[in-house]
Amino acid sequence: MNFYDGELMREAFLLRGYSETDDPKLADVILFHTCSVREHAEERVHGILGGLRAQKKENPNLVIGVVGCMADREGQALFEREPHVDIVCGSRHFPQLPSMVDQVLGGEERVLELGEAKAPVDSPIRDLTGRPSSWSAHVAVMRGCDLNCTYCIVPSVRGRVESRPLAEIVHEIQALVQSGVVEVQLLGQTIDSYGRDFPKEGRPSLAALLDQLADIPNLLRVKLITLHPAYVDQELADAMARSPQFHRFLPVPLQSGSNPVLRAMKRGYSLDQYRRKVDMLRNAMPDLELISDWIVGFPGETDADHVLSQEAMKEFQFLQSYVFQYSPRPGASSFELLDDVPMSVKKTRNHELLALQREISATRTPTMQGRTSRLMLEGVTKGDAGIWYGRIDNGHYAVLPAGINRKAGQFHEVKCVGYNGKSLTAKSLQLLGEPASPAPSMSLPIFGQSFS
Ligand code: SAH
Ligand code: SF4
Repeated sequence: MNFYDGELMREAFLLRGYSETDDPKLADVILFHTCSVREHAEERVHGILGGLRAQKKENPNLVIGVVGCMADREGQALFEREPHVDIVCGSRHFPQLPSMVDQVLGGEERVLELGEAKAPVDSPIRDLTGRPSSWSAHVAVMRGCDLNCTYCIVPSVRGRVESRPLAEIVHEIQALVQSGVVEVQLLGQTIDSYGRDFPKEGRPSLAALLDQLADIPNLLRVKLITLHPAYVDQELADAMARSPQFHRFLPVPLQSGSNPVLRAMKRGYSLDQYRRKVDMLRNAMPDLELISDWIVGFPGETDADHVLSQEAMKEFQFLQSYVFQYSPRPGASSFELLDDVPMSVKKTRNHELLALQREISATRTPTMQGRTSRLMLEGVTKGDAGIWYGRIDNGHYAVLPAGINRKAGQFHEVKCVGYNGKSLTAKSLQLLGEPASPAPSMSLPIFGQSFS
Protein backbone atom coordinates (compact mmCIF):
# COMPACT_ATOMS: atom_id res chain seq x y z
CA MET A 1 0.00 0.00 0.00
CA ASN A 2 2.86 2.33 0.75
CA PHE A 3 4.37 1.79 -2.71
CA TYR A 4 1.00 2.66 -4.25
CA ASP A 5 0.55 5.73 -2.05
CA GLY A 6 4.13 6.69 -2.93
CA GLU A 7 3.08 6.75 -6.59
CA LEU A 8 0.19 9.09 -5.71
CA MET A 9 2.52 11.42 -3.77
CA ARG A 10 5.01 11.40 -6.57
CA GLU A 11 2.21 12.26 -9.00
CA ALA A 12 1.11 15.20 -6.81
CA PHE A 13 4.65 16.62 -6.83
CA LEU A 14 5.45 15.96 -10.49
CA LEU A 15 2.23 17.72 -11.49
CA ARG A 16 3.40 20.74 -9.51
CA GLY A 17 6.68 20.85 -11.43
CA TYR A 18 8.97 19.07 -8.97
CA SER A 19 11.54 16.54 -10.11
CA GLU A 20 12.95 13.61 -8.20
CA THR A 21 16.46 13.02 -6.94
CA ASP A 22 17.98 9.93 -5.34
CA ASP A 23 20.51 12.09 -3.51
CA PRO A 24 19.13 13.57 -0.27
CA LYS A 25 21.90 16.19 -0.29
CA LEU A 26 20.46 17.68 -3.49
CA ALA A 27 16.85 17.68 -2.32
CA ASP A 28 14.76 20.73 -1.40
CA VAL A 29 12.08 18.51 0.11
CA ILE A 30 12.65 15.21 1.92
CA LEU A 31 9.65 13.09 2.86
CA PHE A 32 9.58 9.94 4.95
CA HIS A 33 6.73 7.66 4.00
CA THR A 34 6.33 5.51 7.06
CA CYS A 35 4.93 2.30 8.53
CA SER A 36 4.00 1.80 12.20
CA VAL A 37 3.11 -1.87 12.22
CA ARG A 38 6.31 -2.79 14.04
CA GLU A 39 8.57 -0.64 16.21
CA HIS A 40 11.73 -1.35 14.23
CA ALA A 41 10.61 0.57 11.12
CA GLU A 42 9.76 3.66 13.18
CA GLU A 43 13.10 3.60 14.93
CA ARG A 44 14.89 3.45 11.58
CA VAL A 45 13.05 6.61 10.51
CA HIS A 46 14.07 8.38 13.72
CA GLY A 47 17.65 7.25 13.11
CA ILE A 48 17.75 8.67 9.57
CA LEU A 49 15.92 11.84 10.65
CA GLY A 50 18.61 12.39 13.27
CA GLY A 51 21.21 12.28 10.50
CA LEU A 52 19.44 15.15 8.70
CA ARG A 53 19.81 17.64 11.53
CA ALA A 54 23.13 18.94 10.22
CA GLN A 55 21.78 19.29 6.66
CA LYS A 56 18.83 21.30 7.93
CA LYS A 57 21.18 23.57 9.88
CA GLU A 58 23.27 24.21 6.78
CA ASN A 59 20.18 24.73 4.62
CA PRO A 60 17.26 26.10 6.66
CA ASN A 61 15.10 26.13 3.48
CA LEU A 62 15.15 22.34 3.34
CA VAL A 63 11.62 21.03 4.00
CA ILE A 64 11.39 17.76 5.93
CA GLY A 65 8.13 15.84 6.30
CA VAL A 66 7.01 12.63 7.98
CA VAL A 67 4.05 11.09 6.18
CA GLY A 68 1.76 8.11 6.79
CA CYS A 69 1.05 5.88 9.77
CA MET A 70 3.92 7.12 11.93
CA ALA A 71 2.69 10.69 11.53
CA ASP A 72 -0.79 9.59 12.61
CA ARG A 73 0.56 7.63 15.56
CA GLU A 74 3.10 10.11 16.94
CA GLY A 75 1.35 13.34 15.87
CA GLN A 76 2.49 16.52 17.59
CA ALA A 77 5.02 14.55 19.66
CA LEU A 78 7.03 14.00 16.49
CA PHE A 79 7.81 17.73 16.30
CA GLU A 80 9.01 17.60 19.88
CA ARG A 81 11.32 14.65 19.31
CA GLU A 82 12.50 15.94 15.90
CA PRO A 83 12.36 19.76 15.99
CA HIS A 84 13.83 20.02 12.48
CA VAL A 85 10.73 18.33 10.96
CA ASP A 86 8.37 20.81 9.25
CA ILE A 87 5.45 18.61 8.18
CA VAL A 88 3.62 15.77 9.94
CA CYS A 89 1.07 14.41 7.48
CA GLY A 90 -1.29 11.51 8.24
CA SER A 91 -2.17 8.73 5.83
CA ARG A 92 -5.42 10.34 4.60
CA HIS A 93 -3.86 13.73 3.75
CA PHE A 94 -0.87 13.10 1.52
CA PRO A 95 -2.49 14.28 -1.75
CA GLN A 96 -2.23 17.79 -0.21
CA LEU A 97 1.50 17.50 0.49
CA PRO A 98 2.64 19.99 -2.19
CA SER A 99 0.35 22.63 -0.61
CA MET A 100 1.77 21.81 2.82
CA VAL A 101 5.26 22.36 1.44
CA ASP A 102 4.05 25.73 0.09
CA GLN A 103 2.77 26.61 3.57
CA VAL A 104 6.21 25.88 5.05
CA LEU A 105 7.97 27.85 2.33
CA GLY A 106 5.47 30.67 2.97
CA GLY A 107 6.73 30.92 6.54
CA GLU A 108 4.52 28.52 8.53
CA GLU A 109 6.76 26.81 11.03
CA ARG A 110 4.96 23.52 11.50
CA VAL A 111 2.23 21.95 9.43
CA LEU A 112 0.23 19.12 11.01
CA GLU A 113 -2.61 17.22 9.25
CA LEU A 114 -3.94 14.07 10.89
CA GLY A 115 -6.99 11.81 11.15
CA GLU A 116 -9.94 11.74 8.78
CA ALA A 117 -9.85 14.00 5.73
CA LYS A 118 -12.66 15.92 4.02
CA ALA A 119 -12.04 14.37 0.61
CA PRO A 120 -11.26 10.71 -0.12
CA VAL A 121 -7.56 9.95 -0.62
CA ASP A 122 -8.20 8.51 -4.08
CA SER A 123 -9.44 10.88 -6.72
CA PRO A 124 -12.23 9.59 -8.99
CA ILE A 125 -9.95 9.66 -12.02
CA ARG A 126 -6.36 8.80 -11.41
CA ASP A 127 -3.62 10.63 -13.23
CA LEU A 128 -0.87 8.12 -14.00
CA THR A 129 1.98 10.66 -14.01
CA GLY A 130 3.60 9.25 -10.88
CA ARG A 131 3.70 5.64 -12.00
CA PRO A 132 7.00 4.06 -12.92
CA SER A 133 6.59 2.37 -16.27
CA SER A 134 5.83 -1.25 -15.46
CA TRP A 135 3.80 -4.26 -16.57
CA SER A 136 2.44 -4.71 -13.02
CA ALA A 137 0.48 -2.20 -10.96
CA HIS A 138 -0.95 -1.80 -7.49
CA VAL A 139 -4.49 -0.46 -7.13
CA ALA A 140 -6.05 0.35 -3.74
CA VAL A 141 -9.69 -0.73 -3.64
CA MET A 142 -10.29 0.39 -0.06
CA ARG A 143 -8.63 2.29 2.76
CA GLY A 144 -8.51 1.62 6.51
CA CYS A 145 -9.71 -1.31 8.61
CA ASP A 146 -12.84 -1.81 10.75
CA LEU A 147 -11.50 -4.74 12.79
CA ASN A 148 -9.67 -4.52 16.08
CA CYS A 149 -6.96 -7.16 16.31
CA THR A 150 -5.45 -6.36 19.68
CA TYR A 151 -1.81 -6.20 18.51
CA CYS A 152 -2.47 -4.00 15.51
CA ILE A 153 -1.95 -0.28 15.09
CA VAL A 154 -3.52 -0.09 11.62
CA PRO A 155 -7.15 0.76 12.57
CA SER A 156 -6.07 3.58 14.87
CA VAL A 157 -3.68 5.17 12.35
CA ARG A 158 -5.40 4.40 9.05
CA GLY A 159 -8.99 4.96 10.15
CA ARG A 160 -12.19 3.18 9.27
CA VAL A 161 -12.90 1.40 6.02
CA GLU A 162 -13.64 3.55 2.99
CA SER A 163 -14.20 1.49 -0.16
CA ARG A 164 -13.73 3.12 -3.54
CA PRO A 165 -16.64 3.09 -5.96
CA LEU A 166 -16.42 0.07 -8.25
CA ALA A 167 -16.62 2.11 -11.47
CA GLU A 168 -13.59 4.20 -10.41
CA ILE A 169 -11.50 1.12 -9.78
CA VAL A 170 -12.47 -0.45 -13.10
CA HIS A 171 -11.73 2.81 -14.90
CA GLU A 172 -8.30 3.08 -13.27
CA ILE A 173 -7.46 -0.49 -14.23
CA GLN A 174 -8.60 0.07 -17.83
CA ALA A 175 -6.28 3.10 -18.04
CA LEU A 176 -3.43 1.07 -16.55
CA VAL A 177 -3.96 -1.72 -19.06
CA GLN A 178 -3.86 0.82 -21.89
CA SER A 179 -0.51 2.02 -20.55
CA GLY A 180 0.93 -1.50 -20.84
CA VAL A 181 -0.04 -3.10 -17.53
CA VAL A 182 -0.98 -6.81 -17.70
CA GLU A 183 -1.14 -7.60 -13.97
CA VAL A 184 -2.86 -5.73 -11.14
CA GLN A 185 -2.46 -6.29 -7.45
CA LEU A 186 -5.62 -5.11 -5.70
CA LEU A 187 -4.93 -3.78 -2.23
CA GLY A 188 -6.92 -3.54 0.98
CA GLN A 189 -6.28 -4.45 4.64
CA THR A 190 -9.33 -6.74 4.56
CA ILE A 191 -9.93 -6.74 0.83
CA ASP A 192 -12.69 -9.33 1.04
CA SER A 193 -14.79 -6.81 3.00
CA TYR A 194 -14.67 -4.48 -0.01
CA GLY A 195 -17.99 -2.64 -0.42
CA ARG A 196 -19.47 -3.60 2.95
CA ASP A 197 -19.24 0.00 4.16
CA PHE A 198 -21.75 1.05 1.45
CA PRO A 199 -25.53 0.85 2.07
CA LYS A 200 -26.64 -2.76 1.68
CA GLU A 201 -28.95 -2.17 -1.28
CA GLY A 202 -26.93 -2.47 -4.48
CA ARG A 203 -23.51 -2.28 -2.84
CA PRO A 204 -20.46 -3.54 -4.72
CA SER A 205 -18.45 -6.58 -3.64
CA LEU A 206 -15.08 -8.09 -4.42
CA ALA A 207 -16.91 -10.87 -6.29
CA ALA A 208 -18.61 -8.27 -8.53
CA LEU A 209 -15.29 -6.50 -9.09
CA LEU A 210 -13.60 -9.75 -10.17
CA ASP A 211 -16.48 -10.40 -12.59
CA GLN A 212 -16.13 -6.94 -14.15
CA LEU A 213 -12.37 -7.25 -14.51
CA ALA A 214 -12.90 -10.46 -16.48
CA ASP A 215 -14.15 -8.28 -19.36
CA ILE A 216 -10.94 -6.24 -19.67
CA PRO A 217 -8.95 -7.61 -22.61
CA ASN A 218 -5.21 -7.93 -22.02
CA LEU A 219 -5.58 -7.83 -18.24
CA LEU A 220 -3.94 -11.18 -17.70
CA ARG A 221 -3.55 -11.60 -13.96
CA VAL A 222 -5.30 -10.22 -10.85
CA LYS A 223 -3.75 -10.62 -7.40
CA LEU A 224 -5.46 -9.86 -4.09
CA ILE A 225 -3.70 -8.55 -0.98
CA THR A 226 -4.92 -9.32 1.73
CA LEU A 227 -7.94 -11.31 2.88
CA HIS A 228 -9.38 -11.65 6.36
CA PRO A 229 -10.81 -15.16 6.93
CA ALA A 230 -14.00 -13.80 8.51
CA TYR A 231 -15.16 -12.21 5.22
CA VAL A 232 -14.52 -15.21 2.98
CA ASP A 233 -17.84 -16.51 1.67
CA GLN A 234 -19.15 -18.84 -1.03
CA GLU A 235 -20.00 -15.97 -3.40
CA LEU A 236 -16.38 -14.78 -3.32
CA ALA A 237 -14.93 -18.29 -3.63
CA ASP A 238 -17.14 -18.91 -6.70
CA ALA A 239 -16.13 -15.57 -8.28
CA MET A 240 -12.46 -16.42 -7.78
CA ALA A 241 -13.01 -19.86 -9.29
CA ARG A 242 -14.67 -18.50 -12.45
CA SER A 243 -12.28 -15.54 -12.90
CA PRO A 244 -9.93 -16.17 -15.83
CA GLN A 245 -7.36 -13.81 -14.28
CA PHE A 246 -7.44 -14.52 -10.54
CA HIS A 247 -4.01 -15.59 -9.27
CA ARG A 248 -4.68 -18.67 -7.18
CA PHE A 249 -2.02 -17.76 -4.63
CA LEU A 250 -3.86 -16.02 -1.87
CA PRO A 251 -2.90 -14.34 1.41
CA VAL A 252 -5.35 -15.45 4.12
CA PRO A 253 -3.33 -14.82 7.29
CA LEU A 254 -3.95 -17.20 10.20
CA GLN A 255 -1.52 -15.50 12.70
CA SER A 256 -1.58 -18.37 15.24
CA GLY A 257 -2.65 -22.01 15.44
CA SER A 258 -3.80 -21.73 19.06
CA ASN A 259 -7.40 -20.84 19.90
CA PRO A 260 -6.54 -19.06 23.20
CA VAL A 261 -3.98 -16.91 21.34
CA LEU A 262 -6.40 -16.19 18.48
CA ARG A 263 -8.96 -15.14 21.09
CA ALA A 264 -6.47 -12.89 22.88
CA MET A 265 -5.60 -11.37 19.50
CA LYS A 266 -9.34 -10.82 18.83
CA ARG A 267 -8.90 -12.19 15.33
CA GLY A 268 -12.59 -13.08 15.16
CA TYR A 269 -12.23 -16.78 14.28
CA SER A 270 -11.21 -20.07 15.85
CA LEU A 271 -8.93 -22.59 14.20
CA ASP A 272 -11.97 -24.62 13.19
CA GLN A 273 -13.70 -21.59 11.64
CA TYR A 274 -10.52 -20.86 9.71
CA ARG A 275 -10.46 -24.49 8.56
CA ARG A 276 -14.00 -24.16 7.20
CA LYS A 277 -13.06 -21.03 5.21
CA VAL A 278 -10.03 -22.77 3.75
CA ASP A 279 -12.18 -25.77 2.83
CA MET A 280 -14.67 -23.44 1.12
CA LEU A 281 -11.86 -21.88 -0.95
CA ARG A 282 -10.14 -25.16 -1.77
CA ASN A 283 -13.40 -26.89 -2.68
CA ALA A 284 -13.99 -24.13 -5.25
CA MET A 285 -10.33 -24.17 -6.43
CA PRO A 286 -8.53 -27.43 -5.63
CA ASP A 287 -5.20 -26.04 -6.90
CA LEU A 288 -5.36 -22.89 -4.71
CA GLU A 289 -2.18 -22.13 -2.74
CA LEU A 290 -2.29 -20.05 0.43
CA ILE A 291 0.01 -17.54 2.10
CA SER A 292 -0.11 -16.83 5.84
CA ASP A 293 1.22 -14.23 8.25
CA TRP A 294 2.19 -15.37 11.74
CA ILE A 295 2.96 -13.51 14.93
CA VAL A 296 5.26 -15.33 17.34
CA GLY A 297 5.65 -14.32 20.98
CA PHE A 298 2.25 -12.70 21.47
CA PRO A 299 1.81 -12.04 25.24
CA GLY A 300 1.15 -15.31 27.02
CA GLU A 301 2.07 -17.52 24.04
CA THR A 302 3.38 -20.78 25.51
CA ASP A 303 5.56 -23.48 23.98
CA ALA A 304 2.38 -25.54 23.58
CA ASP A 305 0.71 -22.66 21.66
CA HIS A 306 3.75 -22.48 19.41
CA VAL A 307 3.52 -26.21 18.70
CA LEU A 308 -0.12 -25.65 17.70
CA SER A 309 1.05 -23.00 15.19
CA GLN A 310 3.53 -25.50 13.76
CA GLU A 311 0.78 -28.10 13.48
CA ALA A 312 -1.53 -25.60 11.77
CA MET A 313 1.21 -24.69 9.32
CA LYS A 314 1.53 -28.37 8.43
CA GLU A 315 -2.22 -28.94 8.28
CA PHE A 316 -2.96 -26.05 5.92
CA GLN A 317 0.17 -26.61 3.82
CA PHE A 318 0.79 -22.93 3.11
CA LEU A 319 3.09 -22.28 0.20
CA GLN A 320 4.54 -19.15 1.79
CA SER A 321 4.62 -17.53 5.22
CA TYR A 322 5.64 -14.20 6.67
CA VAL A 323 6.62 -14.55 10.33
CA PHE A 324 6.78 -11.55 12.66
CA GLN A 325 8.01 -11.30 16.22
CA TYR A 326 5.39 -9.62 18.37
CA SER A 327 6.11 -5.93 18.76
CA PRO A 328 4.07 -4.04 21.38
CA ARG A 329 2.62 -0.91 19.79
CA PRO A 330 1.48 2.00 21.94
CA GLY A 331 -2.08 2.66 20.79
CA ALA A 332 -2.89 -1.03 20.15
CA SER A 333 -4.89 -2.64 22.96
CA SER A 334 -2.39 -5.50 23.59
CA PHE A 335 0.11 -2.82 24.63
CA GLU A 336 -1.45 -3.09 28.09
CA LEU A 337 -0.47 -6.79 28.28
CA LEU A 338 2.89 -7.85 29.64
CA ASP A 339 5.25 -8.56 26.73
CA ASP A 340 6.35 -11.70 28.56
CA VAL A 341 7.89 -13.87 25.84
CA PRO A 342 11.65 -13.23 25.92
CA MET A 343 13.26 -11.91 22.74
CA SER A 344 15.42 -15.04 22.43
CA VAL A 345 12.30 -17.24 22.51
CA LYS A 346 10.56 -15.06 19.89
CA LYS A 347 13.64 -15.43 17.68
CA THR A 348 13.74 -19.21 18.08
CA ARG A 349 10.01 -19.56 17.33
CA ASN A 350 10.44 -17.27 14.33
CA HIS A 351 13.26 -19.43 12.94
CA GLU A 352 11.38 -22.64 13.62
CA LEU A 353 8.29 -21.52 11.76
CA LEU A 354 10.33 -20.28 8.81
CA ALA A 355 12.31 -23.53 8.65
CA LEU A 356 9.09 -25.54 8.69
CA GLN A 357 7.65 -23.34 5.94
CA ARG A 358 10.73 -23.95 3.81
CA GLU A 359 10.29 -27.69 4.26
CA ILE A 360 6.61 -27.54 3.30
CA SER A 361 7.25 -25.40 0.21
CA ALA A 362 10.04 -27.73 -0.89
CA THR A 363 7.66 -30.68 -0.83
CA ARG A 364 4.73 -28.88 -2.47
CA THR A 365 6.41 -27.36 -5.51
CA PRO A 366 7.72 -30.64 -7.02
CA THR A 367 4.15 -32.02 -7.03
CA MET A 368 3.35 -29.53 -9.80
CA GLN A 369 5.60 -31.40 -12.24
CA GLY A 370 3.74 -32.65 -15.26
CA ARG A 371 1.06 -29.95 -15.03
CA THR A 372 0.11 -27.40 -17.63
CA SER A 373 -0.30 -23.88 -16.31
CA ARG A 374 0.26 -20.24 -17.25
CA LEU A 375 3.50 -18.48 -16.35
CA MET A 376 3.92 -14.71 -16.02
CA LEU A 377 7.54 -13.75 -16.69
CA GLU A 378 8.88 -11.43 -14.00
CA GLY A 379 12.61 -11.15 -14.65
CA VAL A 380 15.85 -12.86 -15.56
CA THR A 381 17.50 -15.06 -12.91
CA LYS A 382 20.78 -13.80 -11.47
CA GLY A 383 23.78 -15.57 -12.85
CA ASP A 384 22.10 -17.64 -15.58
CA ALA A 385 21.83 -15.08 -18.37
CA GLY A 386 18.68 -15.45 -20.35
CA ILE A 387 16.79 -17.76 -17.99
CA TRP A 388 13.48 -16.19 -17.01
CA TYR A 389 11.57 -16.71 -13.78
CA GLY A 390 8.00 -16.07 -12.75
CA ARG A 391 5.06 -17.68 -11.01
CA ILE A 392 2.59 -20.12 -12.49
CA ASP A 393 -1.17 -19.74 -11.93
CA ASN A 394 -1.10 -20.97 -8.35
CA GLY A 395 2.02 -19.16 -7.21
CA HIS A 396 4.80 -21.73 -7.60
CA TYR A 397 8.02 -20.32 -9.00
CA ALA A 398 9.04 -21.64 -12.41
CA VAL A 399 11.93 -20.89 -14.74
CA LEU A 400 11.83 -20.79 -18.51
CA PRO A 401 14.88 -21.20 -20.73
CA ALA A 402 16.09 -18.25 -22.81
CA GLY A 403 14.15 -17.62 -25.99
CA ILE A 404 13.67 -14.93 -28.56
CA ASN A 405 11.75 -11.78 -27.65
CA ARG A 406 11.10 -12.78 -24.08
CA LYS A 407 10.13 -9.87 -21.82
CA ALA A 408 8.73 -9.18 -18.37
CA GLY A 409 4.95 -9.33 -18.30
CA GLN A 410 4.76 -12.01 -20.99
CA PHE A 411 2.23 -14.70 -20.24
CA HIS A 412 3.01 -18.19 -21.52
CA GLU A 413 1.08 -21.39 -21.46
CA VAL A 414 3.68 -23.79 -20.05
CA LYS A 415 4.22 -27.40 -19.22
CA CYS A 416 6.05 -27.93 -15.91
CA VAL A 417 8.62 -30.50 -16.97
CA GLY A 418 10.90 -30.72 -13.94
CA TYR A 419 12.10 -29.32 -10.63
CA ASN A 420 15.59 -27.91 -10.06
CA GLY A 421 15.58 -28.04 -6.26
CA LYS A 422 14.15 -24.51 -5.95
CA SER A 423 11.74 -23.87 -8.81
CA LEU A 424 9.85 -25.76 -11.43
CA THR A 425 11.45 -25.92 -14.85
CA ALA A 426 8.96 -25.06 -17.55
CA LYS A 427 8.62 -25.41 -21.29
CA SER A 428 6.64 -22.81 -23.24
CA LEU A 429 3.72 -24.24 -25.21
CA GLN A 430 2.51 -20.90 -26.53
CA LEU A 431 2.58 -17.17 -25.86
CA LEU A 432 -0.80 -16.10 -24.50
CA GLY A 433 -0.27 -12.36 -24.12
CA GLU A 434 2.16 -9.58 -23.33
CA PRO A 435 2.22 -5.88 -22.39
CA ALA A 436 0.82 -3.72 -25.20
CA SER A 437 3.59 -1.15 -25.01
CA PRO A 438 7.13 -1.36 -23.60
CA ALA A 439 6.80 -1.67 -19.86
CA PRO A 440 10.25 -2.64 -18.63
CA SER A 441 10.45 -3.03 -14.86
CA MET A 442 8.43 -3.95 -11.79
CA SER A 443 7.29 -1.05 -9.60
CA LEU A 444 10.31 0.08 -7.70
CA PRO A 445 10.28 1.64 -4.27
CA ILE A 446 10.21 5.33 -4.98
CA PHE A 447 11.76 8.21 -3.10
CA GLY A 448 15.08 6.42 -2.74
CA GLN A 449 15.11 3.67 -0.17
CA SER A 450 12.66 1.25 1.32
CA PHE A 451 13.02 -0.72 4.52
CA SER A 452 10.96 -2.41 7.21
N1 SAH B 1 -4.74 -6.63 7.41
C1 SAH B 1 -3.82 -7.68 7.39
C2 SAH B 1 -2.51 -7.39 8.07
C3 SAH B 1 -1.89 -6.07 8.06
S1 SAH B 1 -0.45 -5.88 9.04
C4 SAH B 1 -4.40 -8.89 8.11
O1 SAH B 1 -5.27 -8.78 8.94
O2 SAH B 1 -3.92 -9.96 7.85
C5 SAH B 1 0.62 -7.11 8.33
C6 SAH B 1 1.08 -8.15 9.30
O3 SAH B 1 1.92 -7.58 10.27
C7 SAH B 1 -0.02 -8.83 10.10
O4 SAH B 1 -0.65 -9.86 9.39
C8 SAH B 1 0.69 -9.33 11.32
O5 SAH B 1 1.18 -10.64 11.11
C9 SAH B 1 1.89 -8.37 11.44
N2 SAH B 1 1.72 -7.47 12.59
C10 SAH B 1 0.78 -6.53 12.78
N3 SAH B 1 0.96 -5.92 13.97
C11 SAH B 1 2.03 -6.52 14.55
C12 SAH B 1 2.69 -6.35 15.80
N4 SAH B 1 2.28 -5.47 16.70
N5 SAH B 1 3.78 -7.13 16.06
C13 SAH B 1 4.21 -8.04 15.15
N6 SAH B 1 3.60 -8.25 13.97
C14 SAH B 1 2.53 -7.50 13.67
FE1 SF4 C 1 -4.73 -5.02 11.67
FE2 SF4 C 1 -6.47 -6.99 12.11
FE3 SF4 C 1 -7.16 -4.89 10.56
FE4 SF4 C 1 -5.37 -6.66 9.68
S1 SF4 C 1 -7.55 -7.08 10.14
S2 SF4 C 1 -5.20 -4.43 9.60
S3 SF4 C 1 -4.28 -7.22 11.54
S4 SF4 C 1 -6.71 -4.85 12.77
